[in-house]
Amino acid sequence: MSLIVQKYGGTSVGSVERIQAVAEKVARSHRLGDKLVVAVSAMSGETNRLIELAKAIDAQPPLREMDVLVSTGEQVTIALLCMALNKLGVEARSYTGGQVRILTDNAHGKARIQQIDGHRIEADLDAGRVVVVAGFQGSDEDGNITTLGRGGSDTTAVALAAALNADECQIYTDVDGVYTTDPRVVSRAQRLDKITFDEMLEMASQGSKILQIRSVEFAGKYNVPLRVMSSFEEGPGTLISLEDEDEDQMEKAVVSGIAFNRDEAKLTIRGIPDQPGVAYKVLGAISAANIEIDVIVQNVAKDNSATITFTVHRNDLSQAEGLLKQIAQDLGALEIDADDQIAKLSIVGVGMRSHAGVAATMFEALAKENINIQLITTSEIKITVVIEERYLELAVRALHTGFDLDSPSAEQG
Ligand code: ASP
Ligand code: MG
Repeated sequence: MSLIVQKYGGTSVGSVERIQAVAEKVARSHRLGDKLVVAVSAMSGETNRLIELAKAIDAQPPLREMDVLVSTGEQVTIALLCMALNKLGVEARSYTGGQVRILTDNAHGKARIQQIDGHRIEADLDAGRVVVVAGFQGSDEDGNITTLGRGGSDTTAVALAAALNADECQIYTDVDGVYTTDPRVVSRAQRLDKITFDEMLEMASQGSKILQIRSVEFAGKYNVPLRVMSSFEEGPGTLISLEDEDEDQMEKAVVSGIAFNRDEAKLTIRGIPDQPGVAYKVLGAISAANIEIDVIVQNVAKDNSATITFTVHRNDLSQAEGLLKQIAQDLGALEIDADDQIAKLSIVGVGMRSHAGVAATMFEALAKENINIQLITTSEIKITVVIEERYLELAVRALHTGFDLDSPSAEQG
């Protein structure tokens, strides 16, 4: 008998009919003899609706009250799902996050799970019941309701799986797995059977919005096998797990996927002194304003003068540019330059570690399309380039073909 945690997202529980369909799916797994814990999101659109209600009263409502409000969405779903399961003759019990002691810190709106007491859940499972838990929420030491940030039900599911030592955590969603890249850009993108936690983190941190990043980090840390699958059609989905040590390294695909992101902007400061403390002065001031910095590149200085280029989220560009102007004056820099017509593109794969010449293959594919590379950074399992935004789709397609990721069956689009 296995213990499985299943998570159903907002579209999967978006109407009474869909909740009934989820109940049938859960009932089927239950009949097969698995012990089942189900975490659910709010019905699709509900969390947004609740947020709008709050904003109609106060543009910046108290965070504690915001959590009391938005956590109600999930409470509706757990009750309805249990009712539907009951109708099918499956005994089920619903619990809010606080009721099953999902203990979090008190950072309202972005709380982190500290501990889960699995006793109550285990007692229900031993009694043959399905346990349905509200995603996205917990409570702090003082019993205040907290929420885990948008998309947080994924993290609830993984945390439950870790606490209960589940055999697998299945994330049911509206796509049938993780793809080599966004199928809307490359119609020949393929579903991956497997991907590692590290690869998934790289994909998720750049645009692949299938899973909340934190849930992937959590799953990696506690080694919870995660499976992304469709709640609308049958299929194996994509298994996200640790790297398979036994697998033949040479057989492995060099690149597992291509991730991209259009939400960034690039800032450059030229003619700064080539001295200790200068990078800190430039980037420290940006970080101090709570602006997240992503790619950072400094050139090899010449004539005691250096250039630093970095990227920030597009929404932060004007604030970052303002700060950088000030810094440029203080440092006597030559000039600054801001550009929001860029896109970031990465090839990701643990297979890169055992294959040489991956970067050359990537740059060759881009060169053939006459695409200029503005910045390059690398890590052990990733090569990232920044290019002009208008070439993004062309670049993704060229790399998808260049690294043999195109599906043989699908039509070319
Ligand atoms: N309902 C929450 C949201 O919309 C949490 C989730 O769905 O994972 O962000
Ligand atoms: Mg989600």
